[in-house]
Amino acid sequence: MMNNKNIFYFFIILIIIAQIGCSKSIPEFSGDKAFQYLEKQCSFGPRNPNSDSHLLCKNYIINFLEENGAEVKTQDFSAEVRNETYNLTNIIGSYYPQRRNRIFIGAHWDTRPWADLDSLEENRNLPIMGANDAASGVAVILHLAEILIKYEPPLFGIDLLFFDGEDAGTQGTNDEWCLGSKYFVENYQGREPDFVVIIDMIGDSDLNINIERYSYQNSPELVEQIWKIARAQNISNFNTKISDFIYDDHYPFLEKGFNAIDIIDFDYPYWHTLQDTPDKCSPLSLQIIGDVLTEFIYKSNEG
Ligand SMILES: [Zn+2]
Repeated sequence: MMNNKNIFYFFIILIIIAQIGCSKSIPEFSGDKAFQYLEKQCSFGPRNPNSDSHLLCKNYIINFLEENGAEVKTQDFSAEVRNETYNLTNIIGSYYPQRRNRIFIGAHWDTRPWADLDSLEENRNLPIMGANDAASGVAVILHLAEILIKYEPPLFGIDLLFFDGEDAGTQGTNDEWCLGSKYFVENYQGREPDFVVIIDMIGDSDLNINIERYSYQNSPELVEQIWKIARAQNISNFNTKISDFIYDDHYPFLEKGFNAIDIIDFDYPYWHTLQDTPDKCSPLSLQIIGDVLTEFIYKSNEG
């Protein structure tokens, strides 16, 4: 039995322990560093499937993850797209693979083979550079790999997912898009992850993130968790407007019943044009997304 005085001290100690737990520091994310990785991907050229630049970028991502201590796996698969056989590869970098509770952070790394929304007709069969539409999400996740090798997140193992074949679809037909994430989900045998966060087109220097409607309908708590972090960081680029439905790499995860959202700025005038180049993106936008994700990874405590 404890007397009143002991109970008092017991609670004081509990409060101190709780405060130490809460003040666990969040590692620093560098938007400038991430931006270098965006530029590096673009230095290879457009990374559309079957191109030399696609292969260079694949090796770059794999080497980057290996150098930063991830357990790296690749998934090779092929798909028929407009009478061409695409050789595609998903790349998975895992941290703390033995942990039960897991967060998946994903982005697509392929770029669109055709600038079909370019204002000039002669450009519409050329592949896009995809500085925002592919390189931005990959850049943020690569820098997260550097953070994960240095600082251990509480509770969670992390899987960094790089999907191929997201962006070779025809407008209006869902089955031609998101080939890599579909393949990943179809072949996934592990335990259900606690959270799946996909990022796409988050490098726009005029960053404006609405709540994607599939995410809002299927995973409202995860949306609230992420938006709450942005609010607490005084980030005004995340707003509470609900966007249209966007069929992106989170969708196959939602179909499987997983807790998944897509963080995307779909309001980008250079989308699927030859003008999607690094000068339209900014280190600050990568910083904003990186700060939110870093806090999410290092402060999540449900599982
Ligand atoms: Zn795209």
